Amino acid sequence: MEKHYDYLIVGAGLYGAVFAYKMRQQGKTCLVIDKRPHLGGNIYCEEQHGINVHKYGAHIFHTNNKKVWDFVNSIVPFNRYTNSPIANYEGELYNLPFNMNTFHQMWGVVTPDEAKAKIEEQRTEALQGFVQQHPEFVVDGVYQPQNLEEQALLLVGKDIYEKLIKGYTQKQWGRTCDQLPAFIIKRLPVRFVYDNNYFNDSYQGIPIGGYNKLIEGLLEGCDTLVNTDFFANREQWEAMADKVLFTGKIDEYYNYQFGMLQYRTVSFEEEILSTPNYQGNAVMNFTSADVPYTRVIEHKHFEMFGQQVYDVPCTVISREYSTEWEPGMESYYPVNDERNTSLYQQYKTLADKEEKVLFGGRLAEYKYYDMAPIVEKVMGY
Ligand SMILES: Cc1cc2nc3c(=O)[nH]c(=O)nc-3n(C[C@H](O)[C@H](O)[C@H](O)COP(=O)(O)OP(=O)(O)OC[C@H]3O[C@@H](n4cnc5c(N)ncnc54)[C@H](O)[C@@H]3O)c2cc1C
Repeated sequence: MEKHYDYLIVGAGLYGAVFAYKMRQQGKTCLVIDKRPHLGGNIYCEEQHGINVHKYGAHIFHTNNKKVWDFVNSIVPFNRYTNSPIANYEGELYNLPFNMNTFHQMWGVVTPDEAKAKIEEQRTEALQGFVQQHPEFVVDGVYQPQNLEEQALLLVGKDIYEKLIKGYTQKQWGRTCDQLPAFIIKRLPVRFVYDNNYFNDSYQGIPIGGYNKLIEGLLEGCDTLVNTDFFANREQWEAMADKVLFTGKIDEYYNYQFGMLQYRTVSFEEEILSTPNYQGNAVMNFTSADVPYTRVIEHKHFEMFGQQVYDVPCTVISREYSTEWEPGMESYYPVNDERNTSLYQQYKTLADKEEKVLFGGRLAEYKYYDMAPIVEKVMGY
């Protein structure tokens, strides 16, 4: 007789894996299936020449929640990788996030007061221009930005917008900034200290040995099957367990009966280069619209530091292209506009009525999730 499980978990990404770990702790049996040829979902890494290549985009774990950090470190120790991306605008290099290093590189300013004055001068210039051109958009004495370009200019002024935001955002969204709604950028954090650490969180890093170690540790003791699509034979899979955790697409689960949810996607162009150190940093953003890709990731810098970089004579890079999504492509970022939000709500109403099936993760909840919030939610931290 075929084995029967407490849980069938559809999807071996982080959500499914943390859930499986928690259930196993409670003495439950789990079968985890994934349609891809590997476990790990989007955090899967492929080893090439001793380098862990993040196959679905660069992943940096970061959190302020000590319980989450302690939990993932109890599965596999993490290194201290500090994300400090560099922006390359037509060969000019700027530190990110916007901080005193950026402002010094942009204007030669040295003190925070000088930097603040420069930004203020450019913001005021932008505001005066808009008010003069479109006094009808001033409401209660406040100019209402009409698009993302105006919003960015009001927040940080011309130089930062032109060199570091305009082209990059255009590539990300496939539309020029004056055609994008202002609400996409609510805030543009600027720091008046010399600090290139991208995240504000207390803890950040990469699992030593790569993300596959984290997934393997979480799934220890569970039965797993790859190359196995739930929809190829859903009745058979459902019959194998008392309950189901579904982490695939919620619209697909319901046969797209209300319509298809939309996404943005990213495509990757990978190259092995015969140099030990290509760009000297894991993440370089290309902010000019003339360069077709948004970022170049040099994977070894996530886990190799100092001499270790040179101990491996080659390097692996990925160029990232932000691409319009079409059915059949990898679905990365939900598009939380009105249409998709209300469509998701319709599916959620059905999902809430299910007695045997739970829905979780980025595809089933149609929600952008960083990794740490998944651990926080599933483990209840
Ligand atoms: C480009 C990019 C960069 C990111 N960088 C970061 C970062 O730096 N830091 C951070 O914290 N987070 C980052 N994230 C977010 C992170 O990837 C997610 O938090 C995490 O992967 C979500 O896990 P999940 O299990 O919900 O989804 P997934 O990892 O997508 O797992 C879902 C799994 O379900 C499987 N599946 C779907 N349908 C079926 C089916 N019918 N049958 C069987 N299996 C199925 C899929 O194959 C997949 O493996 C990034 C995301 C993207 C897109």
